[in-house]
Amino acid sequence: MVDEHEQTAAVLDAVDAIADRIDAETDHLTDLDSAVGDADHGANMSRGFAAARDQTEDMADASPADVVKTVGTALISEVGGASGPLYGGSIMKASAALAEGLTEEATIEFAETYLETVQDRGDARPGDKTMVDALVPAVHTYRKSIEEDDLPPLTALSKAVDAAERGVNYTVPLRARKGRASYLGWRSVGHQDPGATSTLFILEELLDVAAEHLDGEVDRDATSPTIPDEDLEE
Ligand code: ADP
Ligand code: MG
Repeated sequence: MVDEHEQTAAVLDAVDAIADRIDAETDHLTDLDSAVGDADHGANMSRGFAAARDQTEDMADASPADVVKTVGTALISEVGGASGPLYGGSIMKASAALAEGLTEEATIEFAETYLETVQDRGDARPGDKTMVDALVPAVHTYRKSIEEDDLPPLTALSKAVDAAERGVNYTVPLRARKGRASYLGWRSVGHQDPGATSTLFILEELLDVAAEHLDGEVDRDATSPTIPDEDLEE
């Protein structure tokens, strides 16, 4: 990619776009969380990303990794609930992968560290009806698209967003096994997971901003399998 200054500008654009999107989706996320939780996911996330935008506003001269780290700390202190430490702590930890800038390898490393940290801290597996159901297919698809299919990062990201969308849909028929929704037992079946949904919104905004900054084709609606079989084995 381009020089550090432009990379930071792209990251700040992404923070801005995500904060706007989450703000616009607050009621939608609240509705999803009222069906299976305590109706705070919309408020939690919009408070968190508003703080992330405020705290990064003056960081045009910082490194991209420092901006991402600040987003993580803002989310940790502002989001609360189960999702705050998962989102914030994982973004903060994964930001170290961007120390050398936003190279292809660094973005793969970022995505994988983010997913690993969410799973280490939340102990959720694919099929538990959480944000992990959007993340696992997205992260696997991103890496595979670059490393095995040799696609440019932008196209890889668009396939990853697609995979996340299928992961979100896949949460609907599941019975929740983690988080507040698990208290509902079978009554959680038939509802879409709020955290998987907010994960998808964030990825969609990352894709839009990446499309403004990178060459390559945006190719949504891919047909590759959503979840690799090995992740579904107990
Ligand atoms: P809370 O459940 O504490 O009210 P939120 O409503 O902000 O927190 O977030 C709920 C979302 O957090 C869920 O929809 C789910 O995606 C995610 N979540 C909850 N517990 C876990 C977990 N152990 N691992 C991964 N994600 C989880
Ligand atoms: Mg909640």
